[in-house]
Amino acid sequence: MTPDQIRDYLKYYRDLGIETIYKADPPAVSAAASVQASPQPAAPAVVMAQKPIQIPAPILPVLPEIVPAGDTLAKIREDIGDDCRRCRLCEARNKIVFSDGNEKSPLVFVGEGPGAEEDAQGIPFVGRAGQLLTQMIENTAAKEGIPLKRADVYICNVVKCRPPENRTPQPDEMEICGQFLYRQLMTIKPKAICVLGATAMKALLNTKEGITKSRGKWQKWRDIPVMVTYHPSYLLRQYNVEAKREAWEDLKALLHFVYD
Ligand code: URA
Repeated sequence: MTPDQIRDYLKYYRDLGIETIYKADPPAVSAAASVQASPQPAAPAVVMAQKPIQIPAPILPVLPEIVPAGDTLAKIREDIGDDCRRCRLCEARNKIVFSDGNEKSPLVFVGEGPGAEEDAQGIPFVGRAGQLLTQMIENTAAKEGIPLKRADVYICNVVKCRPPENRTPQPDEMEICGQFLYRQLMTIKPKAICVLGATAMKALLNTKEGITKSRGKWQKWRDIPVMVTYHPSYLLRQYNVEAKREAWEDLKALLHFVYD
């Protein structure tokens, strides 16, 4: 782990109120060194060990459950602000990507976080994965005789700013930004939620199960039925023929449940 990663993890635990992660006796100071030593700074609450330390796996994030009275999507967007600096994702992002689609939709899709194209346009799922998602929604609906376009559903992400190099958002980033996703879902109260990929699944369902096991099964997020399926960027990989078929099956079940 790099020093930056260790610092991030320590900050994550501190933010949770955990002050002491590892206590080490101060390293023995040689007589020569102690003569030269200037007054020691106050010991930090978290003492870094000299050797690499084993930090436990981060606690899975759960969306913070705070909803102001009379909440609206416009208020949530306003609360995020035009230059949100709540987490480190602000450093490299261009645009905050809040949502796309019908705010009154009975169906909400939740992805992981913006990619390069989304970051440039400020709209979720408009890059290659997004085009596939649009096709999946519209083609499945057409085949099943359901009149539905992408613009009829609501699309958003767990984090609203692009993680550098499209890395997976870190637990503290998901928790900080998750407060807004929580409010979005509580405000819309859709008939069903479609969770795209393992990261969004962890954020909403707090499960340790893998995506292959969880997909295609109805689950619940605060009484709202949830269908987990593969993330479209996973489906873009050439060899995922079976996964594509499964994702289409998941979507079919979802669309019939919501629109029949
Ligand atoms: N992947 C996501 O999870 N979200 C987007 O908006 C785009 C790609």
